[in-house]
Amino acid sequence: MAVSVTVLASGSKGNSTLISTGGTRLLVDAGLSCRELLRRLALGGDSSSNLDAILITHEHSDHVAGLNVLAKRLKVPVYMTGATHEAYRRQARDSSGNRITLERLETFEAGRAFQIGEVTATPFTIPHDAVDPVGFTFRSEGIKVGICTDLGYMPASVKHHIHGCQVLMIESNHDLEMLRGGPYPWAVKQRVMSRVGHLSNDALADFFTTDYDGGAEYLILAHLSEQNNHPEIARMTAVRALGEQQNFVHNQLWLATQHEPLPAIRL
Ligand SMILES: [Zn+2]
Ligand SMILES: [Zn+2]
Repeated sequence: MAVSVTVLASGSKGNSTLISTGGTRLLVDAGLSCRELLRRLALGGDSSSNLDAILITHEHSDHVAGLNVLAKRLKVPVYMTGATHEAYRRQARDSSGNRITLERLETFEAGRAFQIGEVTATPFTIPHDAVDPVGFTFRSEGIKVGICTDLGYMPASVKHHIHGCQVLMIESNHDLEMLRGGPYPWAVKQRVMSRVGHLSNDALADFFTTDYDGGAEYLILAHLSEQNNHPEIARMTAVRALGEQQNFVHNQLWLATQHEPLPAIRL
């Protein structure tokens, strides 16, 4: 086994994905409780809860809710940008309401690759309403994995970074009609639809028909809204767009869910 990717949870109630190689295990985001994250890690049939690092995309609670407790429990270093750490420190409290200090903090900068064990991680800036949000690509043994959710639109720089991924996890957050007609207050609807909100099914379809290289063996639609999307609408919109993609023939389209982990993808 060279590289495996397991989406433990994806959506506005919590996000976390495990990337592992023979010798290195990385968790991207820790947006569920520590107990639930450990339970989902164990479901993969992998009894080792050991991690080499937890990497954080941005400070929204659906990405950091279980971070402090998990990092302490496993004594694992946490990687985030300096600005994200400042925002996290301002907002995060432990169960007694006290401020949190991460014991092992490593900072990185968007655009600068860094190495953790056998994996090269490259963080890149995404347009989202957090202080310094990033997506990631990971490379190990010739395999490239991309994680790209929580973005209002697809800038050229993001398209550039996720080019050539064998596994690409990408946001398909909402159906515009459902969002417009749905129960959210107008201000929240505007936020979701904005250039620093979340990527709609149609915006993702646009990317698939115009700039996508079609090369991913596994394409994972992620961060689906439970209120403003339906998995079948997201899937059909993507399938229709990918139908125009010559290269995307034998490849697999998966949908990440909030309530249970996806099976491990092994490459
Ligand atoms: Zn999120
Ligand atoms: Zn967010």
